[in-house]
Amino acid sequence: MHVVRYNPLMDTRYTPHSYENDIYKKWEESGAFSADSQVQTMGEHQPFCIIMPPPNANDPLHIGHAMGVAVQDALIRFHRMRGSKTLWLPGTDHAGIETQYVFEKKLRKQGKSRFNFDRDTLYSMIAEYVDENSQVAISQMKRLGASADWDRFTFTLDEDVVTFVKDTFLKLHDDGLVYRDEKLVNYCTKCGTSYSELEVVYKEQQTPLYYLQYGPFELATTRPETKFGDTAVAVHPDDRRYQHYVGNTITVEGISSPFELTVIADEFVDPEFGTGVVKITPAHDHNDFAVWQRHKDAMPALKQVIGFDGKLNELAGEFAGLPVVEARQKVVAVLREKGLLVKVDDTYQNRVATCYRCSRVIEPLPLTQFFISVNKKDNSLAHTALKSLSAGQTKILGAGREKILKHWLENLQDWNISRQIVWGISIPVWYQVDGYESSVHVGFLTKDGVYTRGTLEELLTQFSIDEVVAGVQSVQAENTVPYVVSLEKPNGGGMYLAETDTFDTWFSSGQWPVVTLKTGKSDDFETFYPTSVMETAYDILTFWVMRMMLLGEYLTGRSPFSNVYLHGLVRDEKGKKMSKSKGNVINPLEIIDKYGADVLRMSLVIRSTPGQDRSVGEPDFKAARNLTNKLWNAARFVMLQIENNEGGDNTPHSEFDVKLTEVVRSITSHIDELRLGLAADELYNSFWHWYCDECIEQHKKGSLSTDQLLTGLTTFLILFHPFMPYITEVIWQELRERSLVKTNLLISTPWANS
Ligand SMILES: [Zn+2]
Repeated sequence: MHVVRYNPLMDTRYTPHSYENDIYKKWEESGAFSADSQVQTMGEHQPFCIIMPPPNANDPLHIGHAMGVAVQDALIRFHRMRGSKTLWLPGTDHAGIETQYVFEKKLRKQGKSRFNFDRDTLYSMIAEYVDENSQVAISQMKRLGASADWDRFTFTLDEDVVTFVKDTFLKLHDDGLVYRDEKLVNYCTKCGTSYSELEVVYKEQQTPLYYLQYGPFELATTRPETKFGDTAVAVHPDDRRYQHYVGNTITVEGISSPFELTVIADEFVDPEFGTGVVKITPAHDHNDFAVWQRHKDAMPALKQVIGFDGKLNELAGEFAGLPVVEARQKVVAVLREKGLLVKVDDTYQNRVATCYRCSRVIEPLPLTQFFISVNKKDNSLAHTALKSLSAGQTKILGAGREKILKHWLENLQDWNISRQIVWGISIPVWYQVDGYESSVHVGFLTKDGVYTRGTLEELLTQFSIDEVVAGVQSVQAENTVPYVVSLEKPNGGGMYLAETDTFDTWFSSGQWPVVTLKTGKSDDFETFYPTSVMETAYDILTFWVMRMMLLGEYLTGRSPFSNVYLHGLVRDEKGKKMSKSKGNVINPLEIIDKYGADVLRMSLVIRSTPGQDRSVGEPDFKAARNLTNKLWNAARFVMLQIENNEGGDNTPHSEFDVKLTEVVRSITSHIDELRLGLAADELYNSFWHWYCDECIEQHKKGSLSTDQLLTGLTTFLILFHPFMPYITEVIWQELRERSLVKTNLLISTPWANS
């Protein structure tokens, strides 16, 4: 081998910061990230595609994102080197509620709230705020070394995405899978919006159970303050104690005056709970609402006593205007005074629904909302997704979480997709309000900036419809008001008001694999759908992965991905969950600053298992840093040998090639079959204990040729590249300068043969 003399030798130590930016620039400028730069070779390997789970455009990355990037980038780099046409499509999510919540907090610090702005103004303000921050996440992903196709970057509020998402709603509507109904929703009175069942966090807690005198009965309840909304009392049909009351009307001594309730029988009542008699308050309890639906004829209409502001309304008489918790205490005090409180059980344990965002107790409240039917008999979204799961069209790698997913799909309830926030994609619905003015409740900002609220009928006595529309904040139309689903305001006579609710964020991100490929470059959908791997954290399996399966199947007839790779939560080195309050949060950027991106990536991936939590800390970072030093020193040693060996060489070692082929074969199959943690671990051991400890020693003793030593080095650089892209590329560049390798960039170098 002819060797060009070089001088000086590689730096004695690897310092990531002197190289990482330049290397990233080189990769980007070479066009290696672009799916268009690659021609699909031979057909041996299928096109490979990962759609990046879009992080919140407004947030810096956390350690979990770094984990996602490390896993996805390793897979992408591997398949690209193997010759597949490879696409890693990046994007960000507008994260409706999360972002609006943060923005409103900022407004509050300025002494303002969302009620100071009309919808369009508020939307523009949030958009500007998000725009300022969204570069942060992108530049952080680049620092991690993400080799994504940035030209295909997609934001969930890009115009073509918005149009696509609305079209999906139109299609669902045409197929009879959308309906509007007054139902109890899980409403957070602090966030000012309803949530789907998935977003409710249940907490076990001790809640006083009050035994109240109700006419001839004693009954137990945790919510005496909702008694003003009672429409019946219920017993179990087989409960002998009460059978003779069923169908009768009882008189209950009220707080101000007595009132009457019918006694009904329903199997939902547990005879063992309390006294076996319960009050039915359908506007404020999901079970009671279901009872009400079964016995509508036997009881009055819904009586809502808690408003969307979390306070009791005029139906609560003297308690009107009080927040729920305060009202409960006062009602109990008055009942006690009147001798209507029989006893209190302070040891009662129950499950309280709380908001996943702000932890406030969720109020079930009646609201007219849009729903997607997921279990409609002849056209069931849930059933289709279940089928493709059972048929193995989508494989879930995540420590048994496929079962959880199946359980959710089997028990899935219709999906409430309306959110009462501005920051999102508006639901393309128009209410035809002529003749229904008294059934439409509007909140708007007058020309003078005064927040005003009332029925349209009331408002139109003082304001023109144009003024109301110009300053509109919210339109709440009752269930009777007719509506049209349309992207544009319907033509023709009549007065129309646009729906002000926006889609649940998961409704747009649930279409992500389809919408990104369909709105991207031509042929992207044909080439890359269904995608190869969806890599995400297991805690959003039901929020997101399940929705992508429902909507992906619906829109294309195929599951959107072949594999779901669920990574675990990243915990601190003692296995504790990271949290600001514990002060154990690892900021990925600080680790990159200290050790470089490769060290962070390797520490997160090595020995990780899909679906299982991962503990990392200083010892892991130090171990990975030692590995980079080992690689660097080995490379320096090899180059020194090549320089010194001019004119003479050792004898080739006969077993070396066999063993190297075996290493390549094993690592290749691990990565190919998504066993990344194992691949990295085996690679580490082969390199350290075989190549460095044995081969280099053999070379020193004269029984391994310099050619073999170099082949070993370049092969290990290729194998390590998906896990530690920067240092491997830096060493490759050193080799290239000395004409020891043929390709310009390691990122575009073909994978090693086995
Ligand atoms: Zn909340």
